[in-house]
Amino acid sequence: MITTRFAPSPTGYLHIGNLRTALFNHLITRKAGGRFILRLDDTDPERSKQDYVDAIMADLDWLGLHWDRVERQSQRLERYHAAADALRAAGRFYECFETPAELDLKRKKQLNMGRPPVYDRAALRLTDAERDALRAERQGYWRFKLDHARIEWDDGILGPQSIDAASVSDPVLIRGDGQVLYTLASVVDDMEMGITDVVRGADHVTNTATQIQIMQALGGTPPRFAHHSLLTGPQGEALSKRLGTLSLRDLRAQGIERMALLSLMARLGSSQPVTLAPDLDALAEGFALDQFGAAPTKFDAADLWPLTRAHLQRLAHTDVAERLRALGVPDAIAPAFWEVARENIDRLDDLADWWALCRDGAAPAIDPEDAAFVAEALALLPPPPYGPDSWKDWTTAVRAATGRKGKALFMPLRKALTGRAHGPDMAALMPLLQTVPAHKG
Ligand code: GLU
Repeated sequence: MITTRFAPSPTGYLHIGNLRTALFNHLITRKAGGRFILRLDDTDPERSKQDYVDAIMADLDWLGLHWDRVERQSQRLERYHAAADALRAAGRFYECFETPAELDLKRKKQLNMGRPPVYDRAALRLTDAERDALRAERQGYWRFKLDHARIEWDDGILGPQSIDAASVSDPVLIRGDGQVLYTLASVVDDMEMGITDVVRGADHVTNTATQIQIMQALGGTPPRFAHHSLLTGPQGEALSKRLGTLSLRDLRAQGIERMALLSLMARLGSSQPVTLAPDLDALAEGFALDQFGAAPTKFDAADLWPLTRAHLQRLAHTDVAERLRALGVPDAIAPAFWEVARENIDRLDDLADWWALCRDGAAPAIDPEDAAFVAEALALLPPPPYGPDSWKDWTTAVRAATGRKGKALFMPLRKALTGRAHGPDMAALMPLLQTVPAHKG
């Protein structure tokens, strides 16, 4: 059985980038019939907020990415300290004292000499006396001592990977103030929670290398890893700064439908075309990590709109009955209203405008050159209610009276009744009109 986790830090809202990670993990689990854990990486007490936890859960709920269990790292600190003790006992953990400024200076010197800015392990060469002296004046922090060998894994998306551990700094796992860092906490969780598969962004590749060694040092077997490419904007520009405006809650508030979002994100960057899927099971069925490429994936939020429209057009009246009732559409005409309106909305919120038009009538749009014609036509319009033949009957009468035909006949009448040049088939719309300009008030 496969077990996966989605592990956001509750330090902000979920955005389109996180969604990709959550969705990929969820889909491989759904397809294989495994377990999906929501793990909250909340070891940073300053930045982690319960509001974000609630928001993350609400977003996942909306998307239908349900989890089997929630874990919070803040409640597992003892486990991480036990692991730290084990690493210490194994001689793989060492105390360091350099300040950030000192480390920065070292890095600059290395770069100036054309060398990679890898931590030089100076702390390992301290004598006991030097270490005691440093302890008296500063808080030590702890690094994991990497074994300088190649670290290899067969990545589910990137293929075979091989990283020289000597090219990576020994990772800091516990800060001077005692805070356990993600790199260690995640390893302990992945081991103890029996995680079999980790899918995450390509920005974690180096973490993976070090985490594989930490896991092995703790006697564990690393899970399978897959790193998906990072998203860019439509022109290939970095998206990281804009992710704040691409939060799931914003997209939802704009009227993006969840299946549009899920359908796009489950296929974007893969060899499969993006099509609107009916549900998560359909997305899971065709999903395979090895269909995704390593190159950055271009994301254009505009692509969500055609999918949203396609989704809305597929909905039955029963799917939106509540919504229509809330708008005040009488049950008797709600199915007919939905048939007419669904082809003419970008988002469900647009229904309100169409209903207002049916209920109250629109402010007529009348071009000056059509003013006399429209006045004559409206005089020929009987009062509501209208039926399926009303449009034909009226336009026939207007044609006979004025001699106009074709677009010159229909367009001014459409604009007079709806206030706009585009919209539903007028024959279907007329029976829904509760009032029209000629008979208003
Ligand atoms: N909290 C980490 C992040 O959001 C989790 C990374 C992981 O999947 O291990 O980047």
